[in-house]
Formats: sequence, C-alpha cells, structure tokens
Amino acid sequence: MATPIQTTATISTLVVIGVGLIGGSLARALRRRGVIGRIVGCGRNRESLETARRLGVIDAVETDAARAVTGADVVVLATPVGAMPAVLESIAGHVQPAAVVTDVGSVKGAVVEAARAALGAGIRRFVPGHPIAGTERSGVAASFAELFEGRRVVLSPCAETDGDAVERVRLMWEAAGARVSIMEAAVHDRVFAETSHLPHVLAYALVDCLARSDDGPAIFRYAAGGFYDFTRIASSDPVMWRDICVANAGNVGASLDRLRAALDEAAAAIARGDGEWLEEMFARAKQARDSLLPADARDASPE
Ligand code: NAP
Repeated sequence: MATPIQTTATISTLVVIGVGLIGGSLARALRRRGVIGRIVGCGRNRESLETARRLGVIDAVETDAARAVTGADVVVLATPVGAMPAVLESIAGHVQPAAVVTDVGSVKGAVVEAARAALGAGIRRFVPGHPIAGTERSGVAASFAELFEGRRVVLSPCAETDGDAVERVRLMWEAAGARVSIMEAAVHDRVFAETSHLPHVLAYALVDCLARSDDGPAIFRYAAGGFYDFTRIASSDPVMWRDICVANAGNVGASLDRLRAALDEAAAAIARGDGEWLEEMFARAKQARDSLLPADARDASPE
C-alpha cells in the first residue's frame, strides 16, 4: 500500500549522523520551529556529541549508527561525503520501512551510488539533498538556527525515490527556512563543480602557493580586502573539501582544464602587453558578474 503524502513538517524522532555545522544548524532550526519531538545525534566521537547535547542541539547521544536509526522517522546524514558509504552500510536494514533517509553532502552522484549499493530496495526512501548554505567554520559550536533562512536546498531524487519521501524532506527544509529546488544529480555535480568546488580549489591553491614562496610572510602582512574576500573559503575544513574533490573528480577536473586554458590566454596577453585584450576580458567578466549573478547569491557562503 502506498504511504500517504505527508502534509506536515512534524518529525517525532530525527536522527542526525554527523552533528557539525550543517547537521547542528538543521537540528537547531527545526527545534526552534517546534516541529521536532526528539533529536538523536550520532557520530564517531562521543565527546563532540556530548558538546552538542550540552548546547541543546540534540537530546540524546548514540555512537552506534545502527542502534541510533531504529526508532527514527527521518535520518539526516551530515558527515563529510567520504564517510557516507560506510555510514549508509552501517544503517542498512536498521531503518524502519516508512522512515526517510536524506543527506546534505555537497556531491550527489557519488552519494546516490553509495546509497544504491548499501540500501538496495531502501533507495525508495532515500532523498539526496544539498543545502546551499554554510560558512568556512565547522563543528557543532559553529552551528546556528538561522543558517538556512532564505537559502536554497537542492534535492536530487533518484528515479526510484518515493514521492512522499521527497515531500517529507521538502517540508523539513522549508520548516528550517529554506527554499527547495529539484535538480538531477548529474546536473547538480556539473553546476557545483563550477560555482563551488573550482573556487575552493583555487582559493586553497593560491594561498598555498603564496605561503610557500620566499616572500610569503611579507605577502600576507600586506594582504588587503580583496585578498581576504578571494581566499576566505581557504579556511574551510580540509577533510570536507578533500572528499568533495575526490567524489566529483571528473567534473572538477574538467572545470580546472577550462580555467587553465583561460589563465594561459590571460598570461599570453599579459606577456605581449596586450592591454586591449585584457580590458575586454575584464569588462566581459564584470558585466557577467554584475548582471548574471542572482542578488541572493552575491553574499553566498562557501557552499
Ligand atoms: P562539520 O562541521 O565538520 O561536521 C561534520 C560532522 O561529521 C562532525 O560532527 C563530525 O564529528 C562528523 N563526522 C566526521 N567524520 C565522521 C565519520 N567518519 N563518521 C561519523 N561522523 C563523522 O562539517 P559540515 O560543514 O557540517 O559538513 C557536513 C556535510 O555537509 C558535508 O558532507 C559537506 O559536504 C556538506 N555541506 C557543507 C557545507 C558547508 O559550507 N560547510 C554546505 C553544504 C553542505 P567528529 O569530527 O566530532 O567525529
């Protein structure tokens, strides 16, 4: 019998696996809206889970994922992407048939593949998701209830995903203040390789390259606003970004190839003193940024 369509965001037991910036912020936002009965936090590290409980983000601590999910209505995977395959395997067969499992990972194709392998027929209750919100900080102490206010969340349901499961996750994110869009996983991974993953690789590479140069200390001493703006995201969590680049390697590699070609063209113009070429390219880029970037993305956060 088909599960009835959910019309309320109320969740009796929410299990968050990985109570860091994103998992913690979602828990805080849903609690503030009063749509949650009980929140169980799960992870590998009891100490950080106890911190989450002390902060009032979760009600109960569980380090065994299989045990944590048994009574859940909704399970949110909020670990780094590289940890998700093992987490999915550990919860497979322990989630109630009507429960919904979702994730917040910044890459969708690799997570869908891992979910299909681990969950089998349970893939019907799996709703891949990605909140387009974040900061360069991590851990539960950095989490806050307003993080998703007015932000987009992309859901990338698989062909097999039940409609009511998607609806349940949509209502959850709307209760957290977000706006939900649907996007195919493959499209998601191409789009975010360009607008998020590539800029992070650039910021990390720029800071690393300068830090390793002989002039490094002087360069950083005189760094001004532009440098801070451009490199803020290089303060993001290295493990999270390692996992994203590895999980979306094909798309990130293709983006880097295109950018490398564009940089070579700019370098050649600079070498031949071609001011006209440079001015044209800078004007084109300025015009594109000023007119194409949606207003709500201009102060966008790392993700
Ligand atoms: P975070 O603050 O570092 O939180 C990650 C959480 O996962 C921590 O509580 C960590 O706890 C736990 N964890 C790490 N490895 C684990 C493992 N192997 N097993 C179980 N728990 C583990 O990171 P975040 O920024 O919230 O990111 C979480 C997810 O959201 C990632 O998949 C990321 O791609 C996605 N995302 C991030 C942003 C952003 O801007 N930050 C935005 C959108 C989506 P311990 O280290 O204490 O074990």
